[in-house]
Amino acid sequence: MKDRVYNFAAGPSMLADEVLNELHDEFFNYNGSGMAVMEMSHRSKEYMEIFNEAKGRLRRIMEIPEEYEIFFMHGGATGQFAAVPMNLMKKKKADYIITGNFSKKAAQEASKYGEVNIIYDGKENNYSHIPSADELSFSDDIDYVHLCANNTIYGTEWKTFPDTGDIPLVVDMSSDILSRKIDVKEFGLIYAGAQKNIGIAGIAVVIIRKDLISDHDPKTPQVMAYDLTLKNDSMLNTPPTYPIYVLGKVLKWIEEIGGIKEIEERNIAKAKLLYDYLDHQSFYIPHAEKGSRSLMNVTFTTPSEDMDAAFAKKATEQGLCNLKGHRLVGGIRASIYNAMPIEGVEKLISFMEEFAKENA
Ligand code: PMP
Repeated sequence: MKDRVYNFAAGPSMLADEVLNELHDEFFNYNGSGMAVMEMSHRSKEYMEIFNEAKGRLRRIMEIPEEYEIFFMHGGATGQFAAVPMNLMKKKKADYIITGNFSKKAAQEASKYGEVNIIYDGKENNYSHIPSADELSFSDDIDYVHLCANNTIYGTEWKTFPDTGDIPLVVDMSSDILSRKIDVKEFGLIYAGAQKNIGIAGIAVVIIRKDLISDHDPKTPQVMAYDLTLKNDSMLNTPPTYPIYVLGKVLKWIEEIGGIKEIEERNIAKAKLLYDYLDHQSFYIPHAEKGSRSLMNVTFTTPSEDMDAAFAKKATEQGLCNLKGHRLVGGIRASIYNAMPIEGVEKLISFMEEFAKENA
């Protein structure tokens, strides 16, 4: 394959060409330092600039209020499945809403640290539905409510978030952070692995309301303790220096193309194109319920498993890669994160039309 492909992978996923080009240009000698970023001390002046710029850009783009802290942490989103209960479960009780595989994993991890009430589980409809407010009621005396904003595997996404009143809402935004405008004030804590929408694997971004940070339990590993992370400005130990640098480049790209408003418009346009096509044909069967559809991961099946496999194989030959669905849903999954250009989606739809014609 000589040319670059359209990479529909669910994560790690594509980066914008502009980002890759800058990484390439600065690879051997960052900004005249005579060093690659990955060779730099995390305490050096050059690196601290990279670090602070990335943090500043994130605060600006997401309009993160002053009463919230930004952490860059190790361990990906899965690390936060544990860090959240370790740090926030003071009363040892939390509500979890299960809308897919990752919210289930988060709940399982949290149950090691306290009582976890599953107040909704969408397994009956194979996680094709996002609950509405009247399907949810929260338990008394809990530390927080946890949900997953976008279900990467099933292709469903919360359009609006439940009002939990005084109870902090904790949200895993790994697969839709920075894909649309949100109001950070609705949340007690937001966390996300970077490798889908905002960079590469190796870093989790945590946005936390300051009043939720308190002294850690002595058994909490140092690198997981939010109070120590705050005290050391995410540098208790060596941070994931290169992933933070790449995050900064992705954020720079987002600002340069017009910020979250432009990104959201692009994402809505891409998803609309694909869903409109799916809704006006009968060969492919969409998985997610209409009102619960994700802007990021579009899931559907062909009439048979053999055909799903043939679809993914043939698409790859045409430079449309990683379309095979996750084994839990089967079929096809097109992940169309921020970096996927609309041309990729247009090419995918042309391919789908052709494949349907040949196999109907
Ligand atoms: N949450 C969601 C929504 C995800 O999509 C993923 C990864 N696919 C995870 C959590 C786990 O992330 P990580 O691999 O960074 O631990």
